[in-house]
Amino acid sequence: MRRPSVRDDLALHPGYHSPQVDVDVRLNTNEAPESPPDGFRAALADELAAIDWHRYPDRDAAALRSAIAEHHGVEPGQVFVANGSNEVLQTLCLTYGGPGRTVATFEPTYALHSHIPKITNTAVASGERTDDFAIDLDEVRRVTAEHDPTITFLCSPNNPTGMIETEETIRAVADLAPGLLVVDEAYGQFAPWSALELVTPDDPIVVTRTYSKTWSMAAGRLGYLVGPAWLVDELSEVVLPYHLDAFKQAAGRVALRFEAEMQARVATLVEERGRVSAALAGMDVTVWPSASNFILFRPDTVSGDIVWDRLVEHSVLVRNCASWPRLDGCLRLTLGNADENDRFLAALTDVLDPANLESA
Ligand SMILES: *Cc1c(COP(=O)(O)O)cnc(C)c1O
Repeated sequence: MRRPSVRDDLALHPGYHSPQVDVDVRLNTNEAPESPPDGFRAALADELAAIDWHRYPDRDAAALRSAIAEHHGVEPGQVFVANGSNEVLQTLCLTYGGPGRTVATFEPTYALHSHIPKITNTAVASGERTDDFAIDLDEVRRVTAEHDPTITFLCSPNNPTGMIETEETIRAVADLAPGLLVVDEAYGQFAPWSALELVTPDDPIVVTRTYSKTWSMAAGRLGYLVGPAWLVDELSEVVLPYHLDAFKQAAGRVALRFEAEMQARVATLVEERGRVSAALAGMDVTVWPSASNFILFRPDTVSGDIVWDRLVEHSVLVRNCASWPRLDGCLRLTLGNADENDRFLAALTDVLDPANLESA
């Protein structure tokens, strides 16, 4: 017998991982700082008690899709649900990507927008953003003309920069993209406008959303897209039968009953974003404007790696992007609750204190 070798086109690379260090203040993976409301747990426990364990779940997830559709004011047939929005992206690549086809991305952006095409044997054409991380329409024109991508990914607000695209920019990219335009709105609720407005019954434009961030359900793995019904039908043919279990379908439905609580939490995080951004603006760091629940910044006087290490010594964990392409020296802070954000600001103030930096 011989061990199988990994597929030739999959040069094994480390993939997408954020180190989970044991610290008091975890601000590195863009989750919500709190669990869902207590009422959610109670309502969900009732729903779970009623599940028929011996039966397959509703293959169409009809009740969940209706609830999401109502939430957004679209038809249930325009909603595709999956195990996290990453599985939505994977199903898009399985359906419209594959050998001989290309996905376009504009870097720096969400790492999975190029990783998922690779594992589905789809080529990636990576365009570049401008020096200040904006979408450059000339570059979009060049990449789409040269590579004729079947799928073009945009992320707005963009992870890891936090910046949002204007409606004008997204419409312009939609006009240039020769195939499907996917707008990843994992952070859409934190932003002043949504590309959901651009979804129509015909145009190949979809918006993806997740329960992992705003709905405090990262542990549950649930995401979806809103798009034309013809596309949802095509994805449903490709995804595995019964891929979405009954527990998750219930959790997704129940969560939507707590919209007011979710909106209040989003409002608090948006307020914290303003407060923390203002505090960072007064420190020796460069800060990028965020429309999300995280903030990208770069220490001016010392390397990002050193600051990251020193923050961990203060038991504060942020995302170290210092070695990522185009993000030299950058760190990404996920906004936590007010106490956690204060702990972060105090730790960073201490780390950047010139007296403490002399030993760095
Ligand atoms: C966090 C995140 C997701 C979420 O993925 P899930 O699989 O739903 O947890 C998707 N896109 C972006 C840009 C993200 O940052």
